[in-house]
Amino acid sequence: QPFQRAQYLLSAHTVRQLPAETDGGREVAFAGRSNAGKSSALNAICQQNALARVSKTPGRTQQLVFFELPPHADLYLVDLPGYGYAKVPKEMQEHWQAFIAQYFESRRALAGLVVVMDIRHPLREYDLQMLGYAVRRGLPAHALLTKADKLSRGAAGNTLQAVRKQLAAEFGDSVTAQVFSGESKQGVDEARAVIARWLGL
Ligand code: GDP
Repeated sequence: QPFQRAQYLLSAHTVRQLPAETDGGREVAFAGRSNAGKSSALNAICQQNALARVSKTPGRTQQLVFFELPPHADLYLVDLPGYGYAKVPKEMQEHWQAFIAQYFESRRALAGLVVVMDIRHPLREYDLQMLGYAVRRGLPAHALLTKADKLSRGAAGNTLQAVRKQLAAEFGDSVTAQVFSGESKQGVDEARAVIARWLGL
């Protein structure tokens, strides 16, 4: 199970620091608002308690954090900086925006985008911006509606239907969505299957 073996590789805060691209290299990027539950989702998918803690180290929050999936030296999960955190200075926001835009435009290995959203607050402005970057590149994207344990099954299902409808209207059929919980582990297998397919596993 490759996700269980995920391990920290490096953090990049400029395009030059990204791992070198190889012919067979593929990676899946994780985006989400700060506090949406992105670290918990990564940890649940990889079945590790502290994998994504490195992404939260102060000073690392504006970096792309790469996790490799041994034994595959050129398959990565990439933790993008959490967005929507008001206290980030404007220059940092601008640097981050430019870096992310450049990453989406130029990174050949990028095979798909996972956007992690709190199921109670889905499809906010920056979520839509990230999805737009992926779709414009012709890449698939998948929305994890996490913290589903905070809602009843019925309410979670209703939100999923509404989100799928909006995604279809804005992005066509290249964006999929599912219910998820890093807490109860609901939806972990479904998320793994999507990511494994994008990585060619
Ligand atoms: P990040 O900033 O997006 O990486 O978010 P974290 O994964 O650190 O989660 C932010 C907060 O939400 C933490 O207090 C987590 O314990 C909580 N959290 C994350 N995922 C879930 C979930 O699926 N269910 C519940 N109930 N809480 C969650």
